[in-house]
Amino acid sequence: MSSLTISKENKEAKQAPSLFQSTQHIIQQALEKLNYNEATYELLKEPLRVLTVRIPVRMDDGSVRVFTGYRAQHNDSVGPTKGGIRFHPDVTEEEVKSLSIWMSLKCGITGLPYGGGKGGIQCDPRTMSFAELERLSRGYVRAISQIVGPTKDIPAPDVFTNSQIMAWMMDEYSHIREFDSPGFITGKPLVLGGSVGRESSTAKGVTIVMREAAKVVGIAVEGAKVIVQGFGNAGSFLAKFLHDAGAKVVGISDAYGALYDPEGLDIDSLLDKRDSFGTVTTLFPNRITNQELLVQPCDILVPAAIENQITEENAPQIQAKIVVEAANGPTTMKATEILTQRGILIVPDVLASAGGVVVSYFEWVQNNQGYYWAEDEVNEKLERILVQSFHQIYQTSLQRGVDMRLSAYMVGLRRMAEAVRWRGWV
Ligand code: NAD
Repeated sequence: MSSLTISKENKEAKQAPSLFQSTQHIIQQALEKLNYNEATYELLKEPLRVLTVRIPVRMDDGSVRVFTGYRAQHNDSVGPTKGGIRFHPDVTEEEVKSLSIWMSLKCGITGLPYGGGKGGIQCDPRTMSFAELERLSRGYVRAISQIVGPTKDIPAPDVFTNSQIMAWMMDEYSHIREFDSPGFITGKPLVLGGSVGRESSTAKGVTIVMREAAKVVGIAVEGAKVIVQGFGNAGSFLAKFLHDAGAKVVGISDAYGALYDPEGLDIDSLLDKRDSFGTVTTLFPNRITNQELLVQPCDILVPAAIENQITEENAPQIQAKIVVEAANGPTTMKATEILTQRGILIVPDVLASAGGVVVSYFEWVQNNQGYYWAEDEVNEKLERILVQSFHQIYQTSLQRGVDMRLSAYMVGLRRMAEAVRWRGWV
C-alpha cells in the first residue's frame, strides 16, 4: 500500500490529527505490516454504513425538541455489528464512526463473531426527566429499526446510558417486530435477559489486563498506587475492584474535578456518595483539576472517562509505569509515541476496555440459547479470553518491534481483513 493520503491531509491542515484520522492512520500502518492491499484499507478505513436520524420528542412542558442521533456500522463481514449507544451533548458523526471502528478492533482482538457498530444521540441526559429519556430512547429505536436487530446490529450501553435505557429500547424493538427480542440489545436488566457480570464487565476486564501488564513490567497490583480518571460505570467499579485487591487508589475524578491523596482514598465512602452520573468530587472543596490529577505520582494510571486526555502537553509529565486505557481514545497519537519512548507500557483501549463487549457477547449467546450461566462461568470465560488477548498483543509487539497500540490493531484487523478477502469484497 503506498497512499499516504491521511498524513498529507494532516500536513495541509497543520493541526493535530483528529481521533478519526489517527485511527485511519494506524489502520493503514497495521494493514501495511500485515501485507494487505490498498483496497482492504479503502474498505476498512470507514464504516460501511452511517445512518443519521432526527428524533422528535415531546418534552414534559408540552414543547417538541428534535434530537440528532447516529448509528454507524463499521463492517459486517465477520458477523453482525455490535456496539454501544452514547447519550452526550458532544456526540458527533465522526466520534461515532471512530467508536464503531474501535468496536471492530475489540471484537477482532477477543475473537468474537462480530464487526463493530456504535450509536449516539446529541443530548444531555443530566437535564432531562425520566419520561423524556424514555421517549427519546424509544424514538431512537423507531428511527434506526430498519438497520438493527439480533442478527444485524446489536446495541449496548455506553456513556450516560444504562440498563433502564436498554430495557426501554428492547421493549420498543419487540413491539415493532411483534415478538420478544432480548437478543436485540445487551446490557439489559437481569429479569429481561441480562447477563450476570455484565454491569461490571468492563472494569473486570481492565483489572485482568492490568494484572497481566503489571506482571510483564515486574510490579504487583497489590500495593501499587493507582489513579483512575472517571468515576462512572467503568471507573467506579474499577476503583472498587482495585481497592478490594489491595491496590492503593490514590486518585479519582469526574467531570467536575479530581481527588488525590498519596495515602489512598476511601473508595467505599466515595462510592456511597457518588450520583448516578458518576459525580462525587463536587462534595469536596479540596479537589484538583483532571489535568492536575493525570500527572500526580502513581504506578498505574487509568483514564476511564473521555477522549483526548493524555496529549503531547502532559505525556512528558506522566509519572506512571503503566497506562491502562479503560476509556475509548484517551491518548493522542503523539502522546502514545512519547509514552512509548519513555518506556511506559500502554495497554490500549481496544484491548483494555474489551471486557464489556465480551460479556455483551455472552449475554447475546445466552439470549439466543435461552439458557443462562452462573457468574463463575461468565468470569472464567472472560478471564481466559482477555489473558490470551493481552499476551497475543504483547508478544506481537515484541516480535514485530511495534508499540502496543499498533500491535493491537494488527491483531484486531487480521480476521476482518481475511473475511473481506474470502467474501470476495476486495
Ligand atoms: P459513565 O457515563 O458511566 O461515566 C463517565 C465518567 O466520566 C463520569 O464519572 C463523568 O463525571 C466523567 N467525565 C465526563 N466528562 C468528563 C470530563 N470532561 N473530564 C473528566 N471526567 C469526565 O461512562 P462509562 O460507561 O464509565 O464510560 C467511560 C469510558 O469508558 C468511555 O470512554 C467509554 O466509551 C468507555 N467504555 C465504557 C464501557 C462500558 O461498558 N461502560 C465499555 C467500553 C468502554
